[in-house]
Amino acid sequence: MFPATVAGSLPKPSWLAEPDKLWPKWRLEGAELAQGKLDATLLAVKMQEDAGIDIVCDGEMSRQHFVHGFLEFVDGIDFANKVEMGIRADRYKAMVPVVTGALTLKGRVHQTEARHMRAHTSRKIKITLPGPMTISDTVADRHYGDKVKMAFAFADLLNQEARALEQDGVDVIQFDEPAFNVFMDEVPTWGIEALHRAIDDLTCTTAVHICYGYGIKANIDWKNSLGSEWTQYEKIFPALAKSKINQVSLEAIHSRVPLKLLTLLEGKDLLVGVIDVASDTVETPEEVAQVIADVMKFVPKERIIACTNCGMAPMHRDIAEAKLRALGAGAKLAREKFA
Ligand code: ZN
Repeated sequence: MFPATVAGSLPKPSWLAEPDKLWPKWRLEGAELAQGKLDATLLAVKMQEDAGIDIVCDGEMSRQHFVHGFLEFVDGIDFANKVEMGIRADRYKAMVPVVTGALTLKGRVHQTEARHMRAHTSRKIKITLPGPMTISDTVADRHYGDKVKMAFAFADLLNQEARALEQDGVDVIQFDEPAFNVFMDEVPTWGIEALHRAIDDLTCTTAVHICYGYGIKANIDWKNSLGSEWTQYEKIFPALAKSKINQVSLEAIHSRVPLKLLTLLEGKDLLVGVIDVASDTVETPEEVAQVIADVMKFVPKERIIACTNCGMAPMHRDIAEAKLRALGAGAKLAREKFA
């Protein structure tokens, strides 16, 4: 009852990469960087285990950014000549790489860290991948001429890597789709189908993470424009409920998403955000348990998994660690009180 997990990323140690940044520069190179990534992965696993996290992640220690960490392993993309593009429906501008040819994988993407995790923990392990819709909103297209066609090409590559991750012993594969909250109308028409392509033939647990974004300024400004109740998910939850994805990860604590919307996700396991990643205030176990209690009014308790609202990559490391302990302790407290 109420297992605990994390949405994905954790802060990187300062000997590996610049701290407190969403796009940190690496501080090692070559073979030292490769070893450093694995050492940091082990540290992330140990930190989660000690905090009482049941389904542990690699903390995304091996990638600079959640989308580009995948794109680096894809042929058919020009990284040398990036172009400026308004992403997430022009919420912010980013310099993005350009798709210039047919997309293929250069090789395995997350094999090294997945196997390293599997070798060093007996807990369930999770690997996150960017979702096809989010990837196609984070690159410029000079080849496919059609965003949906390109998204499905990425979905095929994601599926190739996901199948291999399953063979590596990964228990949960999660696709991060913040774009689901931007192109709401496109989620039922092709977004879910693209995800289905990405999870084709998998037998492990599959998840999708949707969200209102990191606590960076562009996102905070956008969130402030959305009013007191965020009902955007009404448009996509029915389609997600009908999908083949097992779990949906979303924010709850300090979110303006009315919890009653969760009833629209009937049948899914929910990774409920009980830790706010946009605030440095560390939650108490009681607060965490209270969010779980609030969600229990709308979701059967056996379907609730305690999680963070979003990735923790840009946070201070000591605060992230304290929040992980609150997450583990809060889930335990909820088990004692409500199981
Ligand atoms: Zn998120």
